[in-house]
Amino acid sequence: MSSDSVLTPQVSVLVLIPAAGSGSRFGGEIPKQFRQLAGTPVLLRVIERFFTDDVVSQIVVAVAEPLLQNVKQTEKVKFIAGGATRQESVTNAFAAADGDFDVVAVHDAVRPFFKRATFHALIDAAREHGGAFPAAPVTDTIHVVRDEVLVSTPDRVTLAAAQTPQCFRPDVLRATLARAREENFDATDEAGLAARYGFVVRAVPGDATNFKITRPEDLAFAEAHFEELSAP
Ligand code: C5P
Repeated sequence: MSSDSVLTPQVSVLVLIPAAGSGSRFGGEIPKQFRQLAGTPVLLRVIERFFTDDVVSQIVVAVAEPLLQNVKQTEKVKFIAGGATRQESVTNAFAAADGDFDVVAVHDAVRPFFKRATFHALIDAAREHGGAFPAAPVTDTIHVVRDEVLVSTPDRVTLAAAQTPQCFRPDVLRATLARAREENFDATDEAGLAARYGFVVRAVPGDATNFKITRPEDLAFAEAHFEELSAP
């Protein structure tokens, strides 16, 4: 797939990055999005990848409030205070954006290796269908387990691991977040949430490089293979 699809050059995309988590699973003092990756914090690597893409008009990053005094606000990159949950941080970031956009993308602060061609394919799919997410095939068999007992086994071919950037038409994401707030439903991603409220969310093939830096070994792998993983 070409990174210059037919539709993407004219579009205006807003990118929301929830980065206000404490990163408790990673361990240690510094949240994973602020760890150094090849000499630069992971979050800055993510911002830079979006910043250098002409379709991106604005990037709003939700961070923990105390960090706001240490960041430089610019027209293209805004930092705002996150909320109590990821979803609230996304909602706050969306509310802080200025202007009109064709597509809104929500991206994990800890996925520095997303591919531009995939991002553009997601933008096109979101414009056409309402929403789209990068879907990675599941290679393990996944069981539903409750109270340490295997309950059921979904057919693996129907499963997909959800990556980001997840892209939406602004009206779709706005309605989705509003509905979730109304019913006090907290989700781990926006694609699942949009589908829950009846919007079409297309699965676009994701990339093996686009993993989440969640554990110390992920960061070690990212450091060791930085050059190959960074290819656009
Ligand atoms: O902890 P988890 O991996 O689910 O967090 C997903 C993303 O949401 C992370 O990038 C984290 O920084 C962000 N987050 C946030 N505000 C919160 C909690 C998590 O922006 N209150």
